[in-house]
Amino acid sequence: LERTFSIIKPDATKRNLTGAIVKKFEDAGLRVVASKRIHLTKAQAGEFYAVHKERPFYDELCEFMASAPIVAQVLEGEDAIAKNREVMGATNPADAAPGTIRAEFAESVGENSVHGSDAPETAKTEIAYFFSGLELV
Ligand code: ATP
Ligand code: MG
Repeated sequence: LERTFSIIKPDATKRNLTGAIVKKFEDAGLRVVASKRIHLTKAQAGEFYAVHKERPFYDELCEFMASAPIVAQVLEGEDAIAKNREVMGATNPADAAPGTIRAEFAESVGENSVHGSDAPETAKTEIAYFFSGLELV
């Protein structure tokens, strides 16, 4: 079984959508194997999203990710990385397929409710950024 890293973003935690989003993961066959609610500083958000440093929306993205608590999770399942991205839907909710998390819940291309790792290497580093070995069973 594969593992991937997921964030339920501030726009979703603020609207009390954590349970509704986890239900989408579980219905798709993904299992929550680690979970914690944390409030990132802007600097921590910036470090997590460092790959986007040169993008025009970077500052806005870091402000947003530090604007309220997030729920960081590790999801496990068959083809978990691809399956999670499928359940999330396209980055821009206007392009997201019906029934996906972003189609149902996202507010805009920036405030789009969830993050999911895009490849095995990023899943590994993102999980390690948020969870210690002791928290991963
Ligand atoms: P994520 O990495 O959060 O799972 P993604 O892989 O679908 O989403 P990326 O291209 O990696 O999308 O962008 C990372 C995040 O940056 C997006 O989820 C979104 O919150 C924000 N973002 C992306 N494009 C824009 C944009 N044009 N304007 C504002 N914010 C954006
Ligand atoms: Mg991405």
